[in-house]
Amino acid sequence: MTVFCEGRDYGYELAGVAMLFFRGEKVIPAKEGEEPLDNFILAETNLRPGRASLSVTVEREERTWEASEIVPVSEENPDHDCELHLARMLYQILSEITGITPKWGVLTGIRPVKLVQRRLDQGLSREEVARELREDYLVSQEKLDLAFATQQKEHAILSRNTPDSFSLYISIPFCPSRCLYCSFVSHSIEKTYKLMDQYIDCLCQEIAHTAEVARQAGLRLRTVYFGGGTPTSITAEQLKKLTDCVAEHFDLSEVWEYTIEAGRPDTITREKLQVIRDAGVTRISINPQTFNDDVLRFVGRKHPAQAVVDCYEMARELGFDSINMDIIAGLPTDTLDSFRHTVERLLELGPENITVHTLSVKRSADLSGEKAVDLSSLTGDVTEMVDYAQRRLMENGYEPYYLYRQRNILDNLENTGYCKPGKEGLYNVYIMDETHTILACGAGGVSKLRDPHGDDIKRLFNFKYPYEYISRFEEILQRKDETLAFYQSHPIDGTKS
Ligand code: SF4
Repeated sequence: MTVFCEGRDYGYELAGVAMLFFRGEKVIPAKEGEEPLDNFILAETNLRPGRASLSVTVEREERTWEASEIVPVSEENPDHDCELHLARMLYQILSEITGITPKWGVLTGIRPVKLVQRRLDQGLSREEVARELREDYLVSQEKLDLAFATQQKEHAILSRNTPDSFSLYISIPFCPSRCLYCSFVSHSIEKTYKLMDQYIDCLCQEIAHTAEVARQAGLRLRTVYFGGGTPTSITAEQLKKLTDCVAEHFDLSEVWEYTIEAGRPDTITREKLQVIRDAGVTRISINPQTFNDDVLRFVGRKHPAQAVVDCYEMARELGFDSINMDIIAGLPTDTLDSFRHTVERLLELGPENITVHTLSVKRSADLSGEKAVDLSSLTGDVTEMVDYAQRRLMENGYEPYYLYRQRNILDNLENTGYCKPGKEGLYNVYIMDETHTILACGAGGVSKLRDPHGDDIKRLFNFKYPYEYISRFEEILQRKDETLAFYQSHPIDGTKS
């Protein structure tokens, strides 16, 4: 479907709204000079001082729907007002055509919690923010409640930040095999096996160098996160080498949280868990994604659901008291009943954190490539799955504490992290926010340097692929040194030289 605009161009934004209704269908803004044929949206804007005449026409399968309005617009931002009006008009027409009412309304792009926080910071009351979300953006009551509950938790976590706090991210971009839905740059452990020792050596050098840079910049380590890929893809000895390196070079006595994503049960052994435990790690992830064996097989996970339970019990025996488990709503071949079973099984196990993802199909994922799955045919009602998880988790004492949406996420839904009180995964909030410095080590790592007293952000990118990371390692160390230059021009004590 193609979106045409006359008067003012909101093609990109309106295509984003239309995509909410046509799962798996391409909706794109028209190219210059392109003429409307069949199946199109036409948005016309006639902007005058203080008001605008707007109209939306949708033509689909030889039928036509139209709406028009004359609306007041502000002097400061008339385009924002026109765009929002047109988005609502389009939403209402497409709801009527398809019978779908997306629960985040026309709120696409911006993170809902960020919008709530921004408005509260501007001095609006909670009621005023709720009214704006409900009436201007057509957000449903369930999503409003979720956004407000999450905002309170996120705000408390972000308030712990001090000008000198930072997190350390360590990237292990390897997995034993690729899951069908994965869009991450992860490398098969078998193919990259011969690089592994070199990779770990370079990573240790980068960790040591980062510790020195952080010390000179006056930064204090607050959270450590080993992510991937699947960090437990490497051997117990390699894990030990890395955790020893972190302990040797950083002061862990003031760290609030230390996480290692164990991830897939086919990489977890008692020996590796013991290494992790001995290193003082406070939080791990063991991710079932689903407790349905058929779905696991379909998405390329080469283990039964029971393997997850076995690893979880092993971790409990070893004393881990903060475990996260991820599940995904909308996996191909999953059904509402089977998803409900997954949620109930999780509640029986009772991990401290549960993250409910909605399937997002990005271009690099196999789901949109060779083995493409027709998104419109995915069984199971994803919205009902996500609602069910939210209701059951909150009934059982889990609270939402972070929430984000991705492009190409099914039905414009969200990923939400829930936790038992006091068991929030801090790094999950810091990684999404712009108020916390993260120093990242390893292939694909992106460091985010945050001005301690202002809004400046600088990002430093490591090479994505392990081979390049190893062969151009000197450049990685040089880039890290830019951290020092950044903190010299943005001093932590606020004194400009
Ligand atoms: S375990 Fe995670 S990172 Fe690895 S292939 Fe599967 S989805 Fe991708």
